[in-house]
Amino acid sequence: MSAGNEPMRRKAAEILDRLEKEHPDARIYLDYDSPLQLLVATILAAQCTDERVNQITPALFERYPTAGDLAQADPEELQEMVRPTGFYRQKSARVQEVCRIIADEHNGEVPDEMDTLTRMPGVGRKTAAVVLGQAFGRPAIAVDTHVKRVSTRLGLAEGKNPDKIEARLAELFPESRWTRATELLTSHGRLICTSRNPDCEHCPVSDLCDYYQESIAR
Ligand code: SF4
Repeated sequence: MSAGNEPMRRKAAEILDRLEKEHPDARIYLDYDSPLQLLVATILAAQCTDERVNQITPALFERYPTAGDLAQADPEELQEMVRPTGFYRQKSARVQEVCRIIADEHNGEVPDEMDTLTRMPGVGRKTAAVVLGQAFGRPAIAVDTHVKRVSTRLGLAEGKNPDKIEARLAELFPESRWTRATELLTSHGRLICTSRNPDCEHCPVSDLCDYYQESIAR
C-alpha cells in the first residue's frame, strides 16, 4: 500500500477499535459444527435470513451427516428439508453438486483454499471467505450485504463490486484483522447501520462516516 493511504489505514483501524467496543460479541450468525456444515449453511443462507437457516440445519445435518450423505440424498426429500430457506430446488441441487465434489475429489473434507473452494459451482468469494475465516481460522474478508453497505457508507470502500470492495478492505486492514473486520462490520450493519434506518445518532463512528458527514452538511 502506498504511503498516501496511511490516513485511510488509520481511519480503518480506529473504526475497528470502536466497533470492537460497541459489538464485543460480534460473530457470524449461522450455527455450525464443522466446515461442511458452515459451507452448506452459507449456501442455504442466500436470499434468506441466518435465523431461518439455523432452524432447519440441525435436522438436515442429523439426517445427512457427511458430504457423501448429502450428495446421495433423494433430491425430493432434500428439497423438502431446505424448502423453508426459499429457492429450494436450486439450493438443494447446488448443495448436492458441491457435496459430490467434496466427497469424490476431496475425501469428504471441505478444502481450505480460496481457489479450490471458488472453483466449485455456486461458491463465490464471499461464501469461501466465510468458511475460511470462521471454520478454518484463516484471515478472510467476506463481503456480504452488510459489509458492503457499512464499508461504503463509511467511505472505506466504494462502488458495488464485492470483489473490489474486498480488495480495498484487504489493503486497509492488516491481515490479522480481516476476519474480525468481517464480523464487526456485519454486526454493525445488522444492529445500527441498517439498510433503511441507520441509527447514526447512536453510532460510535459517525464522526468518521462519509455518509453521515455528508447528510449533516446538507
Ligand atoms: S454514522 Fe450512520 S451511516 Fe455511518 S456507519 Fe454509523 S450508522 Fe452507518
